[in-house]
Amino acid sequence: LFISFEGIDGSGKSTQARLLAEALRQAGHEALLTREPGGSPGAEEIRSLVLTGDSGRWSAETELLLFTAARRDHLERTIRPALAEGRTVITDRFADSTRVYQGATRGDLRDTVDRLHALMIGAEPDLTFLIDMDPATALARGLARGSGEDRFEDMGLGFQQTLRAGFLDLAAAAPDRFRVIDGDRAPEAVAAEIAAIALPRAGL
Ligand code: C5P
Repeated sequence: LFISFEGIDGSGKSTQARLLAEALRQAGHEALLTREPGGSPGAEEIRSLVLTGDSGRWSAETELLLFTAARRDHLERTIRPALAEGRTVITDRFADSTRVYQGATRGDLRDTVDRLHALMIGAEPDLTFLIDMDPATALARGLARGSGEDRFEDMGLGFQQTLRAGFLDLAAAAPDRFRVIDGDRAPEAVAAEIAAIALPRAGL
């Protein structure tokens, strides 16, 4: 079973990915928790290349190739081997992040994003949890790091609102794969809703 978590910065998706991995393990199921960009040694190196430095370092096209290269390595070295062993893979971000982030920064690349995905990645999660939250709420709750840990976080509330709308559009277009989860609740309540959906899918 291949599960991804998506959402804007500060939505709590990383916490929820971790809590689901713990819930699966407590139920005796093997779960691998991983993340993008990253999730394999090579992809983690690409992560630091792409997320640090000033925003003019890479063109949008080069950046898209780097995210895709990182995803391909993650898929080859981490995701596919784990799935082949029968483990459940939980990834904090996958291709939907590229559709939304690179689509938001360069709308004219959206078609290229899809073609590159078809050519080099192909795989899609069985289940995607979109942790949905108003960016202003995330900011007010102090969830958004806002620390400029990576350069995309510095792009402001309007950008985060564009991202939120982009994720919701993807979810509406693929309702069988997506579950939209209201992230503006206590983490335990969010985790309980997610576990109730995911555990049966893992045969638990
Ligand atoms: O999930 P996390 O916050 O660690 O992701 C790191 C950053 O990478 C995100 O804040 C996001 O801005 C950026 N990102 C991106 N395009 C992707 C995946 C992540 O711009 N395809």
